[in-house]
Amino acid sequence: MTDQYQAFAKSPIGKFVIKNLGLPAPTFLDRFDSATPVVKGAVLVGAAPAGTLSGAISQVLANIHANSYAGNNVELQQVAATQGLKLNAFNDGDRESKFKAVVFDASGIQNSEQLKELYNFFNPVARQILASGRVIVVGTTPETAKTVKQAIAQRALEGFVKSVGKEFKKGIAAQLVYVDEGAEANLESTLRFALSPRSAYVSGQVIRVSKADVIDVDWVKPLAGKTAVVTGASRGIGEAIAHVLSRDGAHVICLDVPQQQADLDRVASEIGGSTLAIDITAADAGQKIKEAAVAQGGVDIIVHNAGITRDKTLANMKPELWDLVININLSAIERVNDYLLEHDGLNANGRIICVSSISGIAGNLGQTNYAASKAGVIGVVKFTAPILKNGITINAVAPGFIETQMTAAIPFAIREAGRRMNSMSQGGLPVDVAETIALFASTASTGLNGNVVRVCGQSLLGA
Ligand code: NAD
Repeated sequence: MTDQYQAFAKSPIGKFVIKNLGLPAPTFLDRFDSATPVVKGAVLVGAAPAGTLSGAISQVLANIHANSYAGNNVELQQVAATQGLKLNAFNDGDRESKFKAVVFDASGIQNSEQLKELYNFFNPVARQILASGRVIVVGTTPETAKTVKQAIAQRALEGFVKSVGKEFKKGIAAQLVYVDEGAEANLESTLRFALSPRSAYVSGQVIRVSKADVIDVDWVKPLAGKTAVVTGASRGIGEAIAHVLSRDGAHVICLDVPQQQADLDRVASEIGGSTLAIDITAADAGQKIKEAAVAQGGVDIIVHNAGITRDKTLANMKPELWDLVININLSAIERVNDYLLEHDGLNANGRIICVSSISGIAGNLGQTNYAASKAGVIGVVKFTAPILKNGITINAVAPGFIETQMTAAIPFAIREAGRRMNSMSQGGLPVDVAETIALFASTASTGLNGNVVRVCGQSLLGA
């Protein structure tokens, strides 16, 4: 649905009214377009002394042919040169240059005093980042730090990045990427995502990259040859997921309830996919999913997107509403995963991706059933990730306010509050959730396992 306030905010009269009343001013966010490069503009790179990730960062920037700049940091220039990255000179007294992205290797920060490196690097350029720009800080996973002081300093990065996300406005998104020791070569899919408009509505997030096999991919079609099953694919977020995974090269099996057959057929025909009209709560749903993918070489990716809300305060909630929501949103996911994992139903390097919700992180009035189910989904991810084998990974996205039929049905005042109470001052689009799912689905994302990334424009809910 259209955001009329956003359109108004762009008009001359709207700009005047919003400025004078101090109202939120939503920027039109850049979104992915295959005709544009990963980063449309200059990238400024910085690093604290003795960082261990500048090589990996430089490698990615070289691979995407980023127009990269750095200040007078000899160590960084030398590391970049070894990766074939040319860093143009940037004098931090230059107030004219504008950057589309700023990437800082914070892995060298060993203690809290050295956090000043962040200040020294970002303070002079804080006003020089373009609209829909990106701030990315890359650090060492605190749990793998060599000393307690280093772990504390690395943990501190989170507060810095989340504050930048709230402060910079203009649709600028800030992310923190923690990299385990030895996982440098697994960084590329995450960095590409965080740099690009694919992460338009993802901000203030922490993404953890762990060490895993490195698989080379065609970055234009990272899912070529893969088969993906998307539940709830006939409309809304599921429809967008089906489109994005298909764009990335996958054959998509679109799953939804039989009542949705017409829309399911439409979506599948738009993307050259196939359909599976079943209820995911059926006892044999896992088996049906496995069988549906046999002709395509088995399931490589399963996206558990189907979900419902049945909101009532706890005192007014009928038991069947509790049961329905828990069964569809949580128990069905557990049963399907159990079946696929126990019956060889997921190929090696398979991907399980769940759709949670910020309601499952923060809780929400009238949503005890829904929030319990969506917090349970986070539990599925956290407790399944460590026991997976054969390169299979599991991750989740937790959407905030996304413009769909579900949110269009919310009463006006609550809807406006949900839309504006985030760093982007607007709702996200189904495609924003789909792009984040595509990051986890990517064949290159071997190092992403057990992550929960919110797609919420850095919503204040559960912040
Ligand atoms: P939607 O209602 O538009 O679509 C959900 C789809 O799931 C429908 O096509 C429906 O038929 C299908 N479905 C429901 N029960 C099913 C079952 N038993 N078996 C098979 N399919 C079933 O909702 P949406 O807004 O696109 O949401 C998609 C997911 O994102 C849900 O899990 C939802 O909880 C989550 N989410 C949405 C938002 C938002 O703002 N829209 C925010 C947070 C989380």
